[in-house]
Amino acid sequence: MGEVTVNTEWLSDCSGCHVAIVDLHEKILNVLAAVKIQRCPVLTDVKDYPKARVGLVSGAIRNVHDREAALKMRESCDIVIAWGSCAVFGGPAGAGNIHTPEEIATAVYLENKTTTPAPPPSRQVSPLESKVTPLDTVIYVDFYLPGCPPHPLFVFEALSALVEGREPETAKRSVCAKCKRKMEKTEVAELKSNFEGIPDPERCFLSQGYTCLGSVTIDRCLAPCPSNGVPCTGCAGATMQVLTEPNRDIRTEIAERMSRLTRIDREEIVRSLERSAKSHYSYTMATSMIGEKPTFLIKRWIEDEEADYEAGGR
Ligand code: SF4
Ligand code: SF4
Ligand code: SF4
Repeated sequence: MGEVTVNTEWLSDCSGCHVAIVDLHEKILNVLAAVKIQRCPVLTDVKDYPKARVGLVSGAIRNVHDREAALKMRESCDIVIAWGSCAVFGGPAGAGNIHTPEEIATAVYLENKTTTPAPPPSRQVSPLESKVTPLDTVIYVDFYLPGCPPHPLFVFEALSALVEGREPETAKRSVCAKCKRKMEKTEVAELKSNFEGIPDPERCFLSQGYTCLGSVTIDRCLAPCPSNGVPCTGCAGATMQVLTEPNRDIRTEIAERMSRLTRIDREEIVRSLERSAKSHYSYTMATSMIGEKPTFLIKRWIEDEEADYEAGGR
């Protein structure tokens, strides 16, 4: 196979997925020797969309510009990869679906508590769509590479696979598969916030009453967070089991597992996860696979929690 031409594009995102290219360190030389990057917002000043074999698209569909850019990438690239959790699931921007675009504009501009209030810009800004959605709601996607951002190992594997003309490997296991902490039964009777106490470095966070989403999150990262003392927040997105099986959900799976490992009541764990749904569902909230499960209640949980917050004057 000859040189592989690549276009990249970022939609609504934080740019971390594009920075992940640099994270390849010296391996980027292997990639650059085999691919020709034609269009890449962080590397080239090319505004149009030349024909390319591979298109890497990061970011969610949040505004009209995102939609048009996604269509141009599809027209110009033979293979399109949804690159990173924003493109695959909608990512953190999906939390915006709890509010209307008007509510967001009011909170950000007119009633911003930390800057001088100002009217929302009316010119040279692409209008927001009514909802944040993943890339595949607008164009056909050939491959999915979740992660926030995807780990360099998997970026390299995906690019190598395409250069070699084979399909990239898919992840089938959860973060727990790469985590060395031991899941064991304990007498722990209370849920803990992540900033409380000093967790035992050998023991699974769930066994200690801390919320860790490793068991419901696809392994696209080699478990760096639990290996370094921090519970997984699910940034690579939910496992296929959670996404595709109608009776499985992030909060019920975690509650089931933690209540078996500790003395904490299952319903108490479910309620705690619902109260912090904006965090625990933030990466995948915009995908219909999560949004149309029992978690269509996410909006209500968050509204209830925000009402309690306001009532408590917090
Ligand atoms: S997936 Fe994460 S790193 Fe990539 S653009 Fe979205 S928020 Fe940024
Ligand atoms: S739940 Fe978290 S801490 Fe426990 S094994 Fe899985 S990744 Fe590790
Ligand atoms: S361990 Fe969890 S939060 Fe940390 S990078 Fe992996 S998926 Fe993301």
